[in-house]
Amino acid sequence: MQGLMMDYPLTMDRILEHAARMFPRKQIATMLPDGSMHRYAYADMHRRVKRLSKALCTLGVQPGDRVATFAWNTYQHMELYFAIPGAGAVCHTLNIRLFPDQLAYIMKHADDRIVFVDATLLPLFERPARDAGCVGRVVLMNAPKGAAVGVPCEVLHYEDLVAGADEDFEWRSTDEGMAMGLCYTSGTTGQPKGALYSHRSMYLHTLGINQAAAIGLVESDIMLPVVPQFHAMAWGMPYAAAMAGAGLVMPGPHLKADALAMMIEQEQVTVAAGVPTIWTALYHELKKNPRDLSRLRSLGVGGAAMPRSLIEAFEKELGVSILHAWGMTETSPVGTVCRLQEAHEELSDAGKWDIKALQGYPIAGVEMRIVDGEGKELPWDGEQVGELQVRGPWVVRQYYRMEPSPESFTKDGWFRTGDVAAVTPDGYMRITDRTKDLVKSGGEWISSVELENALMAHPGVREAAVIAVPDEKWSERPLAVVVADPDERKPSQEELQGFLAKRVAKFWIPERFVFVEEIPKTSVGKFSKATLRKLYSAGQLE
Ligand code: AMP
Repeated sequence: MQGLMMDYPLTMDRILEHAARMFPRKQIATMLPDGSMHRYAYADMHRRVKRLSKALCTLGVQPGDRVATFAWNTYQHMELYFAIPGAGAVCHTLNIRLFPDQLAYIMKHADDRIVFVDATLLPLFERPARDAGCVGRVVLMNAPKGAAVGVPCEVLHYEDLVAGADEDFEWRSTDEGMAMGLCYTSGTTGQPKGALYSHRSMYLHTLGINQAAAIGLVESDIMLPVVPQFHAMAWGMPYAAAMAGAGLVMPGPHLKADALAMMIEQEQVTVAAGVPTIWTALYHELKKNPRDLSRLRSLGVGGAAMPRSLIEAFEKELGVSILHAWGMTETSPVGTVCRLQEAHEELSDAGKWDIKALQGYPIAGVEMRIVDGEGKELPWDGEQVGELQVRGPWVVRQYYRMEPSPESFTKDGWFRTGDVAAVTPDGYMRITDRTKDLVKSGGEWISSVELENALMAHPGVREAAVIAVPDEKWSERPLAVVVADPDERKPSQEELQGFLAKRVAKFWIPERFVFVEEIPKTSVGKFSKATLRKLYSAGQLE
């Protein structure tokens, strides 16, 4: 028998309508390129989004068309997050930090014909757009009239589109199954692959991350998404903020630690979200130039493992609470969040930090399991390590314009994450590696992530990345690439080995260390192991 409830489509326009009706005066602040603040409220955003959706339809955008963005985190980008899906189209966020060839491939693969581009990013955009050959219209944001665009196409201006339409517009997102967003993975191997989100999946993800056990934004929050809007929909934070009625602070191009510290203090940010490298830089900035962080209730971190030492440093020295989460572009992205439970209350601070360094447990809506090489499910005993697989209403079942392949999807309907993890009996997941980053030495696995975390706990180490290099005797050995902390005495290799000896098994300790000025990062700010492997693949140290 079927239930007798309304057939109410879960579409993203509902979230904007709710924000405008319930929280019309809540503020969205954006730091503009010149450092000044643009401020307006959800009611203003709602009006402009309607105009923009209508303008898109007037331009001939059809349901399902991809409309791309090439932009920083700004109020305009947030408007596009609603306006493009509201016009029935798919908001395809292009990653501004990718190599031109990859960008050209992605634009072509998605057949992006209209792209909204931040004027300051034009130099990065022109070559890939020319190579892609499909872009017929560019809409410039924050550009002077007559600005030259080195792509043969029609050039429009964002504010003209907004001004040229009115608000009398019916949302075209009529069916929750319609696609609304497209993000390509920053995949380190092979060509980038697209995750195509639906209204339903993104709506449920928004509800999912706003659970109290997850990120749990509320109306009194002020959210700073440092995670870029071109990376997995900024982890869904703009939508979560709108649903909760929380204020937003958009950093625009200002991602340096001093600017972020200033924004957190002046705008009274309560929750911020970003990758660990951003927070490492912020920690050092705050130690040098202390700020009033009393309103900051939670620093959300994901995208890569947050070293326990940094969690401890933030909480003990700065009084800032860390919220560690795991996710992937393919999981919309949030899958697990590390909230402490009642049973942890009696733990010492050190015991609590041990837990907080784990990636956490699945938020309701996501299921996970770990399996061995044969696909057999492994127990949750905190010890056994296997491939992490997930499923749920905001997990991809297929990549955009690709057949579902067994490397990514199991026959029984699970997504293969490519992460390797152990799970404690109470369901807390600990990522030990990516399948391809594990080091196999003499037949035994060594976790590069655990070695990195152990190294980064040394006061003289600012960043450390570990990769496998070929070894005649052991087939592979770990190589540690280390950035010494410029404010501390530089540790020697022997000192670091001695430090590790107290923390990891003897056979894990690298014989080879390279000290560098900076670890190469991926387009979304994670350590680029692929680049390191290229640099040191033969085990050469120079
Ligand atoms: P992306 O789709 O670019 O966000 O990358 C997803 C990948 O980032 C995951 O498969 C993990 O390997 C890694 N990742 C995300 N969050 C974490 C975390 N908290 N700890 C360790 N690795 C993470």
